[in-house]
Amino acid sequence: MALHNFICDDCNIVIEDSNTKTIHRCPKCGKDLRWDCNIAIHGNYKHPIHSDALAISPTQRAEHEKRFPNIRLDGQCRPIFNNFTQHEKYMEDCGIIKHPQKIKVKGKQIATVKY
Ligand SMILES: [Zn+2]
Repeated sequence: MALHNFICDDCNIVIEDSNTKTIHRCPKCGKDLRWDCNIAIHGNYKHPIHSDALAISPTQRAEHEKRFPNIRLDGQCRPIFNNFTQHEKYMEDCGIIKHPQKIKVKGKQIATVKY
């Protein structure tokens, strides 16, 4: 069954649930959560990503849990991302700026010459 993301924009909390028929409420502020269809369909990683690159030291664990309650840490203190948006947002919040890759535009083909 497909999981859907329900988001609280105020607390930046994401809840995953396959049940889209009930109203989900934010565990922190109690507001109704926004059903994020886009992420559920397009942005979800097939398997959650445990990011080695973004792993933190165990001493930072408490701070992380306070700052990013919706991003779980695994046993090796690697943040777990369920989708692209969450991943991007985390990096942004941590001040990790990813420079977009420059895509070289290939020369336009004006005409095809047939021999
Ligand atoms: Zn909330």
